[in-house]
Amino acid sequence: MKPSKCESLSIGVQTIDTILKFRDDREWKQFHNPKDLAISLLLEASELLECFQWSGADTEVLKKRNAMKEELSDVLIYAILLADRLNIDIESAIEEKIEKNATYIWPISTAGFAEQNGRNAKLNGRITFDYYR
Ligand SMILES: [Mg+2]
Repeated sequence: MKPSKCESLSIGVQTIDTILKFRDDREWKQFHNPKDLAISLLLEASELLECFQWSGADTEVLKKRNAMKEELSDVLIYAILLADRLNIDIESAIEEKIEKNATYIWPISTAGFAEQNGRNAKLNGRITFDYYR
């Protein structure tokens, strides 16, 4: 097995089993249709986004890291529940999507690119990206 590029990122089968067991122990599966799971996933993503509301130039908002951790966990839990409901193998789906993304042209905005396109390419010292499909 190849070493991970980021040891702090890990999710294993046992965690997925725990998520599914949590759902099944409460007999919630009967309520988990794709529409409501997708809505729930987006609502949790909105809660994650709320961590950044009114943060101004502070794009990290480290004082809300714990809240971000909780909301990101909610997003991932709903993503796993939706994938289970749709019978989608997450790992192969992600691999397929990354392969597909690799075929796109993803020009990085630079100052020169921005000048050409009349856009502000740098915000807070970060390079922004324009996506073309
Ligand atoms: Mg939440």
